[in-house]
Amino acid sequence: MNTQKTIVTIGAGIAGIESSVALSKLGYRVILVEKDKTIGGKINNYYHLFPNNRPAVDIKNYMDEQCRIHDLTIYKNTEINKVQKKGERFSVTTSNDDILKADALLVATGFEYFNGMQKEEYGYKIYDNVITSIDLEEKLRSGKQITTAQGKEPKRIAFVHCVGSRDEKSGNHYCSRLCCITGVKQAMELNSRFPNSLVYCFYIDLRMYSMEYESLYRSAQEKFGIQFIRGKVSEVSENKEGTLQIKAEDTLSGRPLRMEMDLVVLLVGMVPGQGTEKMKSVAALESNSHGFLESNDWQLHKNSSSQPGIFLTGACNGPMSIDETMEHARSAAFEVHTYLQNHSKHE
Ligand code: SF4
Repeated sequence: MNTQKTIVTIGAGIAGIESSVALSKLGYRVILVEKDKTIGGKINNYYHLFPNNRPAVDIKNYMDEQCRIHDLTIYKNTEINKVQKKGERFSVTTSNDDILKADALLVATGFEYFNGMQKEEYGYKIYDNVITSIDLEEKLRSGKQITTAQGKEPKRIAFVHCVGSRDEKSGNHYCSRLCCITGVKQAMELNSRFPNSLVYCFYIDLRMYSMEYESLYRSAQEKFGIQFIRGKVSEVSENKEGTLQIKAEDTLSGRPLRMEMDLVVLLVGMVPGQGTEKMKSVAALESNSHGFLESNDWQLHKNSSSQPGIFLTGACNGPMSIDETMEHARSAAFEVHTYLQNHSKHE
């Protein structure tokens, strides 16, 4: 019976793929629509994952294999331009003018990273030795040599927490949840490459919400000597020789700080993706005050959207880690299945 029903999943990152695979296992026909030319989303750009240092390519390979095994239909380089509901069925128009008929929709449009250039005071794209955590992850993943713009090994490295999160000026008041642990992971990775370097993390307060994250934070201090300074960085400027001057206030001692660094890494937060913005308008979905798609029922039906028959999976619903995304994706598949089963009874 399930094979008569079709689900269109919008977004082929890990949430979209995992939900679609689960639905395919339940016997549904699933069509995945992806705006990019590749599937996997952000996992393609990661190096090692926290908390266990697993290569991200393991997850990417798993996703590719699952798509192959379950023979998922994937439309790449394709966006959704229109969603209409006629009776209980959806009619979805793509950017290639295909019209897809579906019994349920699954939105998996993910997130984007905060644009570091919006925090001009930190000098991203102004000073060559200021990079973001995304740039650093890409350098680690691609095996490129990590040097300063002057071609030297960085000896003093600063991580700046909460860039574009918990920040009045950028308008993002929420915590992105994963950037503290990303900073800890990357600080340890840099210290392993450059054992003589001094690595500092400037934080407002640290949010290590899982037991394993807390253990990593302890290792970072005890085994790697990473120094955590409670203080908000107010400004980064460049010295004549290309090194960077950081101005901050140590909020524990109340003293202003000025420190010279070779490399500054901005830990950029998570913001709603463009695809998520588009889905709000084409499918009339409600969002929360931070712009992420709103669940219909926070406790009981986290994967249900404000529109019956349209479900949410992954970080379009808010910042979440890879393991949380996988769980969210499987629960989304179950929500869709329950919805379709209830509808079948009334047909
Ligand atoms: S996870 Fe840490 S760095 Fe990221 S927004 Fe929250 S407190 Fe700031």
